[in-house]
Amino acid sequence: MKSRTPDFPAPLDAEKRKAIRPVICYPVDQLKVAPLELYFRARKNFELVESLEVPAREARTFEIPAGHFFRIVCVDGPQVGDLNLWQAENLQERFYSGKTRALHGTHLSTGDRLWSGFPYLRPLATITANTLDWYGFDEFGAGVHDVIGTRCDPYTSFLLNQTQYHHCCHSNLIRSLAQKTGLSKAEIEADVHDVLNVFMCTGFLQDTHQYFMKASPVRPGDYLEFFAEVNLLGALSACPGGDCGSEHSSDSSTCYPLRVEHYRPTNDELTKAGWRSPSINGYDRTHGMGD
Ligand SMILES: [Zn+2]
Repeated sequence: MKSRTPDFPAPLDAEKRKAIRPVICYPVDQLKVAPLELYFRARKNFELVESLEVPAREARTFEIPAGHFFRIVCVDGPQVGDLNLWQAENLQERFYSGKTRALHGTHLSTGDRLWSGFPYLRPLATITANTLDWYGFDEFGAGVHDVIGTRCDPYTSFLLNQTQYHHCCHSNLIRSLAQKTGLSKAEIEADVHDVLNVFMCTGFLQDTHQYFMKASPVRPGDYLEFFAEVNLLGALSACPGGDCGSEHSSDSSTCYPLRVEHYRPTNDELTKAGWRSPSINGYDRTHGMGD
């Protein structure tokens, strides 16, 4: 926690230095925008291929081919989901929430993309619908679908409370990925990564700038929809925090299942437009060291 009483005196020009206007770190006007109009045409009359229920306090994996869509749907009651994404044939290429946050901001909505880590750095998925986009930012500075929080995990839980709790999203994601791949929990743990907090309502306090959560505004029927830019393996955990209105990392919150719906386009709009998965990043990877 930052001290409210600094140890060092402010310099004479402190106010002037603090008054400098911010500059956006990564102006996205240079970023190739997602071809949303094409995706909207492609999803007209798309058909449901499969529907998967993710039980409360558990995670499940799912596969979505490039060019298809999927939705994460709130079914029985307000519930937050922790989403991991990998390129299906190469688990080393996985969602990079930190760079996604640097590019698109703390909370994601329609048109924002979920980027993979280095050296790939390309869109894994693009958000094509968000029934909670009306929420925007509230009076506390909170928004929905954040890429701030990491995922609830048993290590931090132990650090803070000395508990052994096994249904944090981190562990749920490990179990589901181990089951999918046949690898052990030790082999698979490093492949589980920071998440998109689907339906979670979060922000930073105005005074201390601490990360906070509040009860999600999500209701049954709400969904977040994605276009798969590459062949995807996904894992979704129905967080033990439920709507994350009080606490997580325990069995005390009311939790509900979530549903993942996989949709296939029924028209040839993508083919007609010559759509292909994005290429991996073009940096030559020499890092100033020659070949
Ligand atoms: Zn969680």
